[in-house]
Order: sequence, then C-alpha cells, then structure tokens
Amino acid sequence: MSDARQSDERVASADVAQEIERLRAEIRRHEYAYFVEGQPLISDQEFDALFERLKSLEAQYPELVSSDSPTHRVGSDLSAEFPEVEHTVPVLSLDKAYSFQELVAFITRTSREADKPPLYVAEEKLDGVSIVLYYREGRLERAVTRGNGYVGNDVTANVRTIRTVPLRLERPHTVAVRGEIVLPKDRFNELNRRFGNAYANPRNLAAGTLRRVKSREVAQVPLEMFAYEGYFEQSPYPSHTRTLAELRTCGFRLNPRLGVFSDDGGVSEEVERMLPNAVTGGRAEMERFVEEVTRERDRLPHEIDGIVVKIDDLGLREALGYTGHHPRWAIAYKFESPAGITKVRSVDVQVGRTGRVTPVARVEPVAIAGTTVSNVTLHNQDYVEMLELSIGDTVSVSRRGDVIPAVERVVEKNEAGLSVWQMPEHCPSCHTKLERLGAHHFCTNYRCPDRMRQQLFFFVGRGQMDIEHLGPETLQFLIDRGMVREIPDIYEVDYRSLVQYEGFGERKVGLLAESVEESKSRPFRTVLASLGIPELGPRICELLIEAGFRSIDDLFRAADRDDVASLAAIPGIGEKMAADILAELRKDSLRQIVERLRRHELRFTEAEHDASASSATEGPFTGQTWCVTGSFEHFKPRSKAMEAVRAGGGRTVNDVSSAVTHLLAGANAGSKLRKAQRLGLKIVSEEEFVELLKRVSTD
Ligand SMILES: [Zn+2]
Repeated sequence: MSDARQSDERVASADVAQEIERLRAEIRRHEYAYFVEGQPLISDQEFDALFERLKSLEAQYPELVSSDSPTHRVGSDLSAEFPEVEHTVPVLSLDKAYSFQELVAFITRTSREADKPPLYVAEEKLDGVSIVLYYREGRLERAVTRGNGYVGNDVTANVRTIRTVPLRLERPHTVAVRGEIVLPKDRFNELNRRFGNAYANPRNLAAGTLRRVKSREVAQVPLEMFAYEGYFEQSPYPSHTRTLAELRTCGFRLNPRLGVFSDDGGVSEEVERMLPNAVTGGRAEMERFVEEVTRERDRLPHEIDGIVVKIDDLGLREALGYTGHHPRWAIAYKFESPAGITKVRSVDVQVGRTGRVTPVARVEPVAIAGTTVSNVTLHNQDYVEMLELSIGDTVSVSRRGDVIPAVERVVEKNEAGLSVWQMPEHCPSCHTKLERLGAHHFCTNYRCPDRMRQQLFFFVGRGQMDIEHLGPETLQFLIDRGMVREIPDIYEVDYRSLVQYEGFGERKVGLLAESVEESKSRPFRTVLASLGIPELGPRICELLIEAGFRSIDDLFRAADRDDVASLAAIPGIGEKMAADILAELRKDSLRQIVERLRRHELRFTEAEHDASASSATEGPFTGQTWCVTGSFEHFKPRSKAMEAVRAGGGRTVNDVSSAVTHLLAGANAGSKLRKAQRLGLKIVSEEEFVELLKRVSTD
C-alpha cells in the first residue's frame, strides 16, 4: 500500500513552487484591485481561471498549501469555537460629542496642548462590528472581536472569508489593525428578507454572521472590512495619515470618506499626496465636511452613525494620553440622539409558558418616545453575545412600533471590565438544568412554577379558552392562595366558597363559576392550542386537525410511534418541528394534565361539524379518512373522487399520514402510494372504488 502511494505522489519541483507563489501574488493583486479599489484589471473569467489553476496545483501538491493562500477564503464546515483572547493593543472606545459645539470644544481643548495648530483626521464612523486583526510578519494570525476591550473572541476562521481582509500583507509588518466589519445596506435588505427579516439592521446581521459556527456560511454573506487604525511593532509612523497610507499600501481598504484639517488650514503636500482622496482645509472645511456627511448619511452605501475626529500627530497623542477609558486625542461626533442611552443595572431571566428563558436587562429608567423604559429584552444568549453586553455597560435602547424595547447596542463598556453576561445553568424558578435548543434556552420542566404561572395566564386568556370572568387579577389571587397551581386546578376550585373573601360577592362568584363551566364547550382545536405546548400554536393545531389528527389520542398514538414522517408531510410543518411536537406529546407531565382535564369533560376530540374537510352525512365511508392520489379514468379532476368519499360520510385529506385509513390510488400514484404501503394503510384502486360506489347505490 505505502509503496503504491509513494509512487503516485508527486514531488513538487522548484518550478511548481514558483508558479504557485506567482499565482498567489497575482490573485492577491487582482483581489485588491477588485475588492479594495473597485477597479478590476481582468475579467471574472480570467480571474476564475487563475484561481482554478492555483486550486488544482495546491490539490496536487499538498505540501505547498499555505494558510495565507487566496484559496483559503472559502471557509469550512468545521464548527468553530470562539475562544477568548487577550488584546495586546489598546481597544478603547471613544469619547462622544452630540453637537457640533462639543466637537469644537474638543478641538479647542486639544490644540491648546500643541505648539502649532495640529492636524485632525476626520472619518465617517461606520456602524458595524469592531475587529482587531493581528498580523505577524505580514501574515494574518488572528482576528479578535472588541469584547470588553481587554479580552475578545477569536473569530479568525470566519474573518478569513472576508475578501477585503488581506491574508498576507504587501510588506512583512507585525501589526495590529483595527477596523470595522460592515455589510452594505442593499445587500442587507436582500439577505434579511431571506432570513425572514430577523435582523434589525446591517450591524446585527454582520455581528450574527461573524458568530456562525461554520465559516462556509460566513463566506456566503458579503461582509466588508474597513481599516481605521494600525499599531505597528517596528518603525512606527509618526502620524495617523502616514499609518493610513501604509495600511492602504499593505492592501487594506480605508474609509472612503476622509478629511484632514488644521485650524490654520495648513495641510502639507505630503498628506495630500499620501491620501489623494482626502478633503483638506481649515475649520470651515471641517464644518462643511461634518454637514455634508450628516446630510448624506442615508444615501451612503453603508450605515454610519457619526464622524470620528482624531489628532494626526502620534507624539501629540502620546502627550494628551488617556482618561480611564478614552483616549483624549479622539472624539466620536454622534448623529443619534442620546435619549435612548442608559446603563444596564442587572440582567434577569424570565421563564415563559413554553419554558423558553429570556434574559431581560434592568436598566436605569430612560424616557424613549414618551414612555419610561426600565426593562429591556435581550432575546437570548446569542443576542447578548452578539452585543458583547455586560452588566454595567451603557447601551442604546430602541422602541420600534409596539415591540418591547430592545437593546440595540453597547455604546460604552463598563468600567469594571466585567465579561459578557452568561445565561445561568439552572432555571431560576425550579432549578432544573436549562437546555439549549437553537438560539434559545429552555426549562424543560412542564411543572416549573414560573412556567405554570405563565401557562395559566395564557390558558384563560382571550384567543385561547377565553374564560371571561377569570381575569388576571382573579387568577393571581387564586395562585397566591395556592388554590390554582396548574391548569386542571381551574376546574376543581370551589368558586362559591370565594364569597368569604373581600371583593367576591355572590354575583361575582356566580359569573366566575359559570364562565369556567362554559369554557368546557370550547372545541378541541382551542383546547389543544391553549395548553401552551411548545410549537402547538393555533395555526399548527389547525394544520394537524385538518390533516386528520382529530383527537388528542390520534396525536398521542403518533407520538408513541414517533411518526415524524406523517407530521412532517403536512405542509407548514417541517421535520424538525414534527420531531419536537412529538417529543412534547410524549411527556408524562402533559399526559397527566390531559387526563385530569378529560375528567372535567373538556373536549379532546374534534367534533365532525367543526372541521371543514369533513361531511356530516352518514354513509359507507363514515369514520374513514381517505387520501386520493394519481390520475383517474372516471374522476376528472380527481377532486370528484374526493367528493364521492365525502358524500359517503368520509373525510378527505391531502396528505398520507398514520391518521389516514384508505388511500385511493389512481394511475401513476407516486410517493404517496409508497408511503401508504410503508404505513400499512388500506390501498384501494379505481376499479375497487367504482365497485364500492356501485354497491352503495344498489343497496
Ligand atoms: Zn423551571
């Protein structure tokens, strides 16, 4: 074996190694021209040909594969973890100015410290994910999120897929580069539609993407990176403009809009030569720059949320130094109003009726759009991690329409250096170990006190069992006195005995008892959707019943057989949801509750007249559920055959499941026939069906 392999293996010649190096250099040059400068030098086809040639050489000579090759941007299917990494350069946030006056005050304050009027560099403040790229001798070693400023998460595998991040620099610098990862607005709109508009803004989608576990998925989102600060290990450049020019030479994309200003208007020719696109001038030009950017912000291809103004001279920066958490030599002029800015005091978790656990930030009360907000949702752990939120952080809070206020972003990290908030391991209400399903954590204990409480409120509410006189206050009263703990208790309370309590008159308890009694006549579909079983909302209950699962026992049987296929075949219910529903239906705690409710005569079977797909007629097909598939000679269209079944008292459904009793199979019956055979259903041919109908009419 090993001999055969050896003879197959090619030894890379010096020529091949050279060609690979040449191809990489050429591809890098074209990537830079295309992605950074936006001026392709060759056609896409020519580029693809170079890329394919390199890929095939690397496949033939694996010993020549190198991690900084342009072919290593496609990402992988390996699950990434994002270990915490300490930053070796300062990753501070900037002091904020909310008016032009505050910006002027910054300039006055800093220029006082200088011998001659200093240069200021102004850049659009891109609204994306802050990132630090660490290069060693020109090779990208690590990409780390901002984190708390001292420790961030290593997201290198994902950042490598971004075309505007050079994997290898044009010069062998050891440098840390700070920048912003953004998603252009137009691409955001298009992608977000595909994700069901799950993301509030491009920044959230970019941040969510960077935390995908599979870098191959990241590679499919057109993220971009703009560099704005460089910390070189050797030969530091004396100014920010020189640093930016060097970053540009190294292959980075700089902010498209730059301004370089001085109070006396004197900007050297050298600066103008190094940064040919920069706007230059004195304070009047700077004011115009700020005005223009503010006015045009909505029309820019990327979201921006302000303008950053920095001292150019690194020596002066050094002299100005830092406060505890901000450099004194820079300021962020912010567009957004500070109205929604507040501080996170603590984070609590709430258990919902399905057991889903939601983190809620308790913030210092802040007025937003006329209301005082002190509780703000954080959705789930992923969202918290995306925000990199810790207790003590200053956050921006928004309200969109009637939606619960949400934390939009961290404006300022806490001073104590607290790390990102973590979901507790156990349910705060019942101490069951929380389980993670997708993005959310769940308390899986159906009898969890908090969860039961939420279930009770849901069960009696409008849209569910709608128990008119058992409102939230009365229910809370019963819960507080231990009379109601779980749903069946509602039907076991002696309401007449409540007259002993203040506020419960004869008339009131009479109405209460009556409305509880009356709720027993709610149809099965309402009872089922009111139980608060995860995934079983009104729409899904409807789908199940229409598909032939007409009683709780039908559903329990499907659960006992783990008949995922039958549920998954119903349009609107996927395989995963089907498996989740069946797992819920197998739980003992649920079955005990159903048994108790049955004793109180709640409905667990769909009455015939409740369903649209069935017929009230008595006939030969009564009690049977038919599915019709294939094409027929006597029944064109085949809905005529379905009408015949219904005329005979049977039910018809569109999909084969274990709830079906008969499959009427015409010619060319395909997957439904195979499935019915697998499930062991009675299969009836057109001929037999015609015979059945004849017998009926002659009877
Ligand atoms: Zn619990």
